[in-house]
Amino acid sequence: AKNSGRNCIRFYNRKMQQNVDKQIETEHQLNEAFSRNEIEVHYQPQLSMQGKIKAAEALCRWNHPVKGLITPDQFIPVAEMSGQIIKLGDIMLEKVCNRLKIWSGIEGFNNLAISLNISVKQFMSPSFVQSVEEKIEKYGVRPHMLKLELTESLFLDNFDKVVKKMNRLKKIGIEISLDDFGTGFSSLSYLKKLPLTQLKIDRSFIRDIIEDDNDKAIVRATIAIAESMGLETVAEGVETAEQKELLEDMGCKIYQGYLFSKPLPLEEFEAYAADKL
Ligand code: C2E
Ligand code: CA
Ligand code: CA
Ligand code: CA
Repeated sequence: AKNSGRNCIRFYNRKMQQNVDKQIETEHQLNEAFSRNEIEVHYQPQLSMQGKIKAAEALCRWNHPVKGLITPDQFIPVAEMSGQIIKLGDIMLEKVCNRLKIWSGIEGFNNLAISLNISVKQFMSPSFVQSVEEKIEKYGVRPHMLKLELTESLFLDNFDKVVKKMNRLKKIGIEISLDDFGTGFSSLSYLKKLPLTQLKIDRSFIRDIIEDDNDKAIVRATIAIAESMGLETVAEGVETAEQKELLEDMGCKIYQGYLFSKPLPLEEFEAYAADKL
């Protein structure tokens, strides 16, 4: 038993070392990815009840020369830890603003908003609001076409500071969406103090909504609260027509999920959207 205990410790040490090595390797490769322009934006459609396209969520993908497309779960945790998430966020913001500029010149597409995920570290960095301001200026973006998706984990930080920053963004005319709603730390009393325009109901509540009465009740209540506060509701992770119908009955306004489309590379998204303008 003594022996196996020691082996166990040795095993964990080796395993930990391997993880550290892998982290450093990913960190290094990610820097290369930045300088080689390997970060791509994929777009997932967000549709109205009537099936018209309203917006797209921008989701990052790493197009690796050997490994192909890599999804965010494989590199965002490393980027968060290393601080590279700020650079990644900057790259995404730049690409999204550039896209909004191009779309503003295309009939129909000029009404499509883009929703961009912002990590806590990026949001809390001192120059964040200024960098958003600079980018929308540089590309002549109409500010309400840009939506920032923030998560409740922000409120673990200094609440007043966060609200102040959100208000500065609102003043510029940027829209703010609260992502993954219900999974984090926000309370209803916080909600009314925030300059939000949209609430995204987390996929975890949608997944079993047909069978699970608790999920049903939570989503129904969330939509009612959002409605009463004048916030638009988005359901994420809608996978079946049954889910969509139920959400429709509950009064949900915007739908996103595999039922409609996975996140798509630019050209495919544009072809998809052109059909639903
Ligand atoms: P999220 O913000 O909750 O984004 C939604 C995720 O759910 C996306 O995964 C999307 O592909 C997936 N999804 C959408 N519809 C469905 C569905 O019907 N079924 C299922 N099973 N999944 C669906 P993705 O693209 O892998 O992104 C994962 C997470 O990575 C995002 O979660 C977001 O937190 C983060 N992320 C992605 N892009 C960025 C970015 O540019 N910046 C930052 N800070 N985070 C990002
Ligand atoms: Ca999101
Ligand atoms: Ca989400
Ligand atoms: Ca989610």
